[in-house]
Amino acid sequence: MNYISTRGHSQPTTAAQAVVDGIAPDGGLYVPTEVIPFSAQQLQALAGEPYHNIALAVMRRFFAGIDDAALQQCVHRAWGPNSGFAGQVAPLVRVGDAHVMELWHGPTSAFKDVALQFLPRLLSQARAQLGMREGTLILVATSGDTGKAALAGFADVPGTRICAFYPHGGVSTIQRRQMTTQRGDNVCAMGVYGNFDDVQTGVKQIFTDPDYAAALRARGWQLSSANSINWGRLAPQVAYYVAAWCRLYADGQVAPGEPVDFVVPTGNFGNILAGWYARRLGVPVGRLVCASNANRVLTDFFEQGLYDARRTLQRTLSPSMDILVSSNLERLLFEAGGRDAAFVRDCMAQLAQAGVYRVPQQLLAELRTGFAAGSADDAVTRRVIRAVYERYGYMLDPHTAVAWDVYERMRAQGGLSARQCVVLATAHPCKFAHDVLEALGGARMADERAALAALAAYPGVEVPPSIAELWALPERHTGVCERAQMPGAVLTSLG
Ligand SMILES: *Cc1c(COP(=O)(O)O)cnc(C)c1O
Repeated sequence: MNYISTRGHSQPTTAAQAVVDGIAPDGGLYVPTEVIPFSAQQLQALAGEPYHNIALAVMRRFFAGIDDAALQQCVHRAWGPNSGFAGQVAPLVRVGDAHVMELWHGPTSAFKDVALQFLPRLLSQARAQLGMREGTLILVATSGDTGKAALAGFADVPGTRICAFYPHGGVSTIQRRQMTTQRGDNVCAMGVYGNFDDVQTGVKQIFTDPDYAAALRARGWQLSSANSINWGRLAPQVAYYVAAWCRLYADGQVAPGEPVDFVVPTGNFGNILAGWYARRLGVPVGRLVCASNANRVLTDFFEQGLYDARRTLQRTLSPSMDILVSSNLERLLFEAGGRDAAFVRDCMAQLAQAGVYRVPQQLLAELRTGFAAGSADDAVTRRVIRAVYERYGYMLDPHTAVAWDVYERMRAQGGLSARQCVVLATAHPCKFAHDVLEALGGARMADERAALAALAAYPGVEVPPSIAELWALPERHTGVCERAQMPGAVLTSLG
């Protein structure tokens, strides 16, 4: 039994069950009971290895009990030389004094591919090991990026079906086409009249309706989710922190044991928390810098110890970070708070009832030894995109630009702890062609296709083939429905 719930009211369980469940029965999040660190020698030995071998070593630490040959196959298919990353999962690019870790080389040009190319395969194996006869039905409410990455990850994975709902008219043309053109016999994408909140509410209602669950079971399906509360999505992200340190060590940029700082554009706190687990694995992780946009709930939290979600969500240029409740912080509260499940239950109850909780000063001090935080609004984001391109010829997407600004200010103020700093790049700039073009001083184009063409004319910009082909592919999923019709649409898609 390797996994326990942050809320302490669920039985410890296996890795396979934790991945299939997604969320623990008591509403908490699963964490590993223990993390066995790599020794300094093991880490240095990994440094010469290709990415998929480093990732395999990390996955073995977290998924003991999953058949090893199957685990190897999952890792190879997700990240090996013939995967959707074509051998480039997390390359480091020198920009000024920093190293930018490009996490967007996967099939949908966003960092969520790194985990979502692996999770479906792992889930399939976990189901097989548990002897599950029912199929796994994944429902996703998406404001853009997650939907496509999940569709691409689950496409044609045996025993699974996926349905992604997005707000009709509420996602960019590129994002919509990415979803509507998705191939695969087990996928469905559907627009919903309303905004993202409406879509999310619709999906939550489906998840919490026992009658509906029974109807699905009668047809041989069980619901599950693919968001970052699932440990199977978090663990794969640990691997690129390990790989980054290994690469810098192999290149002679850090000495044995020398720490590296990481700056992470943050929304749900999944990406940056993976860095915290990398530290637990024995990787010399210096400071983890949490970069937020104008929705700076986490910045305020790390400054004051007060998590206050009582504010209006702002729509920004970095929509994947427009979040007020960062689910994965619960795991950090549990771990850093001495694995005190009663404390976590208390915080989460206050958050649910009052929208706010405060952590003790001692815990805040402890958190601040490992984390720092900063935020950047849209005006700064635009300025940074332009300045970095003009100075270095390197184009940032709006999410990464937020991180870059926080990095530069921290460095100027002496807030970094290490000589080497890695800035995580979470999306390709072409995914946000309109806004990036405008930030660079280009004219506002009539549509996104024109903006993409204009951006492609800038030196050093390569449009990813998967985005370039979007207008040549047939749109397969053109359905739009009312929120009330979502449950019916799911049943229809099951045939
Ligand atoms: C999801 C996402 C983020 C935020 O990552 P979290 O793990 O939710 O903190 C940042 N940038 C992009 C482009 C994303 O898609």
